[in-house]
Amino acid sequence: MNPVALITGGSRGIGRGIAIELAKLGYDLILNYASNHEAARLTLKECVAAASTKQRKIQAEIFQADISKPSHRRQLVDFVRRKFRRLDLLVNNAGVPPKVRQDILNATEKSFDEVLDINLKGPYFLTQLAARWMIAQRDEDPGRKPKIVFISSISAVAASVNRGEYCVSKAGLSMVTKLYAARLAEYGINVYEIRPGIIETDMVVPVKEKYDKLISEGISPIRRWGKPEDVGKAVAAIAQDLLPFSTGEVLYVDGGLHIERL
Ligand code: NAP
Repeated sequence: MNPVALITGGSRGIGRGIAIELAKLGYDLILNYASNHEAARLTLKECVAAASTKQRKIQAEIFQADISKPSHRRQLVDFVRRKFRRLDLLVNNAGVPPKVRQDILNATEKSFDEVLDINLKGPYFLTQLAARWMIAQRDEDPGRKPKIVFISSISAVAASVNRGEYCVSKAGLSMVTKLYAARLAEYGINVYEIRPGIIETDMVVPVKEKYDKLISEGISPIRRWGKPEDVGKAVAAIAQDLLPFSTGEVLYVDGGLHIERL
C-alpha cells in the first residue's frame, strides 16, 4: 500500500513541484486547490506520468477546498479519510500574497484578515484535524511515522514593508511549526518548516522584473531563480525520513538568500 500525502495548493507552482517529487517516490496524492480546476487536473496527470517514469503506480485525486473555511477543511480531511483511509504526510503549502501591495502605513484590515485566514489560520486548524487523525493512526500501527510540513517563506524573517500582512502570516507559521513539533514529538510525528526564497511561480509574476534584476546582481549567492522542484526535493527528503532526529527544524530553499553578508 502506498503512503498518502495531502498537499494544499497542489494545483500550481510550488505545490505542483512538491506533488511531482512525491509522485516519483510512490506517494498517493490528494491535490487540494481553491478554484483552478484545470490546473489541478493537469498536475494530477503530470504526477501519474512522473510516477510511471520511476515504475511506480499511484492514485491521485484533486479536491477543491478553501482552507480558510472550517467546513471546507473538514470536508477535505473527510475526503482523504474516505478515499485513502490513511494520511502519512500533510504539506501545508497553499498561500496568497495580499491582493494589493500597500505600504504598512496604508494597508487595510480587510487585506490583513484575508491573508492571515488563508496563510496562517487555515494551516493551523487543518493541521489540528490532520494531527488528531495521525495520532489515532499511530495508535493502530505504532510503526507509522507521519509527518507535517509547513511552507513558509523568507518573509518569515525578512521585512517587506509593502506586504506586512504576508510577512506576519509567515512569521506566525514558523511558530505554528514549533508548536506542533513540540506537541507531536511524543507520537513520533515530526514537523518541519520549509522557507523558500524567490521561486518562479505565478505568485511572483507581478514582480518578475524586479527579482530578475536583484538575482542578476547577486541578492542570493546562488544566482538563479528557485524552481518549484527545488522545494519539492526538500519535501521529498522529509518524506523519505532523511531527517529523523530533527523536528521544528527550518530548511531554507533560497539559494543562500538568508545569509547575512558584509
Ligand atoms: P501560486 O503559484 O500562486 O499557487 C498558490 C496555490 O495555492 C494554488 O494551488 C492555489 O489554488 C492555492 N490556494 C490559494 N488560496 C487557497 C485557499 N484559500 N485554499 C486552498 N488553496 C489555495 O503560489 P506559489 O508561489 O506556488 O506559493 C506556494 C506557497 O509557497 C505559498 O504559501 C507561498 O506563500 C509560498 N512561497 C512562495 C514563494 C515564491 O517565490 N513563489 C516564496 C516563498 C514562499 P488555485 O490554483 O485553485 O488558485
